Amino acid sequence: MENRLLVDVARLKPGGETFEGEVDIIDLDEEFVKPFGGVRYSLTAQLFGAELLVRGRLEQDFDLVCSRCGRDFDTTVKVEDFTVSVEIAENQQEADLTADARESIILTLPTYPVCDEACPGIEQKAAEPPADNRWAALDGLEVNR
Ligand SMILES: [Zn+2]
Repeated sequence: MENRLLVDVARLKPGGETFEGEVDIIDLDEEFVKPFGGVRYSLTAQLFGAELLVRGRLEQDFDLVCSRCGRDFDTTVKVEDFTVSVEIAENQQEADLTADARESIILTLPTYPVCDEACPGIEQKAAEPPADNRWAALDGLEVNR
């Protein structure tokens, strides 16, 4: 998988172009935020004079940890309205959108991820299994030495 999101400016059709694919650009290494797969993109790029305008959507799958119950869960972070405009120099062949796309995805990550809107959290989690009380009898014993 490519690890940069590039737009081939030199070959862009005058009326704009839509391009799709997947790039491996989220290199987070956090204990509670683990990306898997790449960023899937579906973007439209068009040149307006020296300005390249790119819009579309981005998606990245993550393995996150629920801020309520502490369990791992998988989720897809979606940026529905990714928009970036880049100034293109006269002989520039390609535009690198890697940093913009990465930032958009990371900013869209939930601050307090929840595995489910209805997650009851850790306090109200299903009752713990009954404690093993076979040893409780010992508590009542007087130890006389
Ligand atoms: Zn949860």
